[in-house]
Amino acid sequence: MTDPSTILPSLRPDSKDPAVVLRDVFGHGSFKGLQEDVVRHVTQGGDAVVLFPTGAGKSLCFQIPALCRPGVGIVVSPLIALMRDQVEALRQAGVRAAALNSSLSPDEAGAVRRALACGELDLLYVAPERLVQSGFQQMIADIDISLFAIDEAHCVSQWGHDFRPEYRDLAMLAELHPGVPRIALTATADPATREDLIDRLRLRTARVFITSFDRPNIAYAIVERESPRRQLLSFLSKHKGNSGIVYCLSRAKVEDTATWLSGQGIRALPYHAGLDAGIRSANQDAFLKEEDLCLVATVAFGMGIDKPDVRYVAHMDLPASVEAYYQETGRAGRDGLPADAWMSYGMADVVQRRRMIDEGAAPEEVKRVERGKLNALLGICETAECRRKAILAHFGETYPERCGNCDSCLSPVDTWDGSEAAIKAMAAIYRTGQMFGAGHVIDVLTGKVTEKVTRFAHDQQPVFAAGKDIDAKGWQSVIRQLAAAGLILVDHAAHGALKLSEESRAVFRHERKVILRKDRPQKAAEVRRSLARSAAADLPEQAATLFDALRAERSRLAKEQGVPPYVVFQDVTLRALAVERPATLAAMLALPGVGQAKLERYGEAFLAVLRSA
Ligand code: ADP
Ligand code: MG
Repeated sequence: MTDPSTILPSLRPDSKDPAVVLRDVFGHGSFKGLQEDVVRHVTQGGDAVVLFPTGAGKSLCFQIPALCRPGVGIVVSPLIALMRDQVEALRQAGVRAAALNSSLSPDEAGAVRRALACGELDLLYVAPERLVQSGFQQMIADIDISLFAIDEAHCVSQWGHDFRPEYRDLAMLAELHPGVPRIALTATADPATREDLIDRLRLRTARVFITSFDRPNIAYAIVERESPRRQLLSFLSKHKGNSGIVYCLSRAKVEDTATWLSGQGIRALPYHAGLDAGIRSANQDAFLKEEDLCLVATVAFGMGIDKPDVRYVAHMDLPASVEAYYQETGRAGRDGLPADAWMSYGMADVVQRRRMIDEGAAPEEVKRVERGKLNALLGICETAECRRKAILAHFGETYPERCGNCDSCLSPVDTWDGSEAAIKAMAAIYRTGQMFGAGHVIDVLTGKVTEKVTRFAHDQQPVFAAGKDIDAKGWQSVIRQLAAAGLILVDHAAHGALKLSEESRAVFRHERKVILRKDRPQKAAEVRRSLARSAAADLPEQAATLFDALRAERSRLAKEQGVPPYVVFQDVTLRALAVERPATLAAMLALPGVGQAKLERYGEAFLAVLRSA
């Protein structure tokens, strides 16, 4: 057997060249995108604002400069619960990292403080409230600091979705430590939040690094809701053995859905802010450590979760905006391997979201903004165009053509001129006094004689049976699309009665055309892609079998240490091992994600699996 020490000259790179650190410590052959520019700029002492999408590799943008510059890099991160895994991942790569937070025992905290004072740390993770405490500032007053990194920097802005008032105080770092470079990072795509965070953190003179926000490995699909649970189950059947998140709007729905999924033989756990703190953190921990868990959650879950192998994000309810949708779906596929963003969507979403805005306490001008944001997302739900193109257009990016990796591209939907249908539907609403919900209006259109129809003599109206050529399901689709487009309003105060909006006049006058999408027959949508999207799905059979064996070994090693499996090796590395089948440690070192420390730690164990296969 090869003695690892003969090929491993030293664990910590002697050279402080970023490219060498990237290879030796993190095991990557090259930088991704603008990573290298950021790393060089910060290593030379420059301030930076990094606006890259999730999964672009923002962590290395501060971790590598912290290793290349003298002193300790101090990282502000919003969630204490998640620091542990980040620190663990760094330690496994041979980096001297620690976290200082309220979850440590006094002894543990003392040890971290001593290591800090003795210059024995490369990276220290702290919560924002701790960083600005005078005690902490005194502690770091006399030590060498390589940089301050402010991760999830959008938390400083109240325009963002995760406002954290403690982040505001971080502005003082500029004065307290004038010579120390500061780097703020976020995946926020919303221009108002970006501008605000640059101001709030006093980073006006910092260099701004920004890339495309496209996430090419995520496949987007939005299906018309019919029977949401059955549709969810059918979607999840493609993801056996994978980790994923199912978002629901309410706590009650989270609980119900998790219980129901468990009854269907799927390992599912709930997560929402109303759960007992102990259960909540146990469920989060299970999600990080297990490889096939479906976490059913409200939006309280997700920020700061760095789990790289989330293979799907499903929405059972419509998010509030394109920004929120993108943030939430963005948690899938950080590792760059194929992932799914799936949503079931229906008329009820339009009604519910509009109602939440209308009944909210916000001032009218804020409500106007919220309505605009909701309408933008509804537009994406109802588009017959490429979803990715529509999403990126919302963020001011032009996507050149159809992406080929969303439901609209993979099985294009037809559109039709629905102007006449719209006029009929609106006439039926108008003629029945704008007092009835969609069900009754559809009965009138299709000429169904019900008790209500007779009681109100609606069968005497000229619109009665005027829409016989379209079935009830077809009318539901028409009405949903008219509501999404704001031509029809739903009056919550009047039990969901449909009313006509100002804009509908233009349709009546034939001044505005209404182009509608033909809803997909559900069957076709389901068989559309029966592709199992596991990380090994596209591997040849032999490699796939090997992948499973490697995965089992990884799981064993992770359990032994009580860490998430991806901290040992990520799927990208297991794939490469299964395909390349390296015979020696030296050959293994060339694979993605294999640095010196991990090679020493795990190389032999995985070589043994490869040999015995
Ligand atoms: P972000 O913070 O931007 O969401 P992370 O820093 O968590 O992204 O990194 C996302 C994924 O990309 C991780 O799995 C990481 O290992 C991987 N990664 C980062 N940089 C590189 C690189 N240069 N080469 C290969 N993989 C990389
Ligand atoms: Mg990150």
